[in-house]
Amino acid sequence: MTDLQRYPIGNRPYPWFCPGCKGASLWPATVPFKTTLKDHGQSYEINIPDLEAIKCKECDKMLLTSAAEDRVLAQLQKMKEGEERNDNTR
Ligand SMILES: [Zn+2]
Repeated sequence: MTDLQRYPIGNRPYPWFCPGCKGASLWPATVPFKTTLKDHGQSYEINIPDLEAIKCKECDKMLLTSAAEDRVLAQLQKMKEGEERNDNTR
């Protein structure tokens, strides 16, 4: 729980208001996160089993914190670099 303090998303106390159901039901949660991102016509499958995000207890809407977003982008970057390494067989 104290981990949350490293998120640079302000000091608003939980729960937050959910943009989906308008309830005060947004809480931090560790959730499996899977998505496909497209970059320059390439698809990259992002799969993070334990992403620290914010989730609504009422309607299951999920928001990414900026820390979570960084993690997603870091994984995307890693996948792109892996591909480049395959291209330039050094
Ligand atoms: Zn909701």
